[in-house]
Amino acid sequence: MINNRHLSGMFASAAFVFVINSSSSAEGLHWSHEEQAMWGSIEDASHTEVPHIFPFAECAIGNRQSPIDLAEAEIERTTELNRLRIWYDTDTPVFYNSGHGIQVNTSFDYTGYLEVGNETYPLIQFHFHEPSEHVVGDKQFPAELHYVHVREDGRLVVMAVAIEEGEVNETFQTILDNIPQTAGEMREGTGIVINPETLLPPNFHKPDFYTFAGSLTTPPCSEGVQWYLLARAITVSAAQLEQLRGFYTNNARLPQDLNGRTLLTTQ
Ligand SMILES: [Zn+2]
Repeated sequence: MINNRHLSGMFASAAFVFVINSSSSAEGLHWSHEEQAMWGSIEDASHTEVPHIFPFAECAIGNRQSPIDLAEAEIERTTELNRLRIWYDTDTPVFYNSGHGIQVNTSFDYTGYLEVGNETYPLIQFHFHEPSEHVVGDKQFPAELHYVHVREDGRLVVMAVAIEEGEVNETFQTILDNIPQTAGEMREGTGIVINPETLLPPNFHKPDFYTFAGSLTTPPCSEGVQWYLLARAITVSAAQLEQLRGFYTNNARLPQDLNGRTLLTTQ
């Protein structure tokens, strides 16, 4: 049994603090996807000490940044990878308009997690980018779903799922209909029950994937994030994509240099 009450609490307060900062020009921490080339040089005038002066420096100087272009990567097929097992569960989550995307935060007592080999990573939130952040050469998907997991020692694992236009997804509709319209707002206590696994492709329990070392794709672009990109895409309808774009559009970071990173895949 995983108790992620503490982690969720930390996350919720971190998110709250960030909302205040990002909406305050005095803090100098406002950032946008339009100005992503400048993230590394955003200055925090409230600090005089390095590294706090440039809190997002890793976005510019990191060498394992995300997302990436899979067509440019060397991909190694191996049967010796730890398999993924997804043990998500139902939840009454918090619907959050982060100011940069639409997001669902799991509740304090949520027990769903991702298993990588023998290690477990509690799911703390999932969110959407439009269009996709990971690309395959010229191929970009209409959207991308990121499941964010954090272990108690701080290790982060993101499982990414490409979204194509096709069949409607009912869980996605519930999310779209409950995200607040105002940036920075959360909607809690709705009593609405969601199982995050209902957004996943069929036969998701032991999915095929590509894995690589990367970073958060938004400031502060912290590295040490292990990525798992599912080989199979999911679908949402054209109308749902349109509704997603009503919240945010182009909230995707461009592919970053691979710097010699190799991808491993199960397929
Ligand atoms: Zn993301």
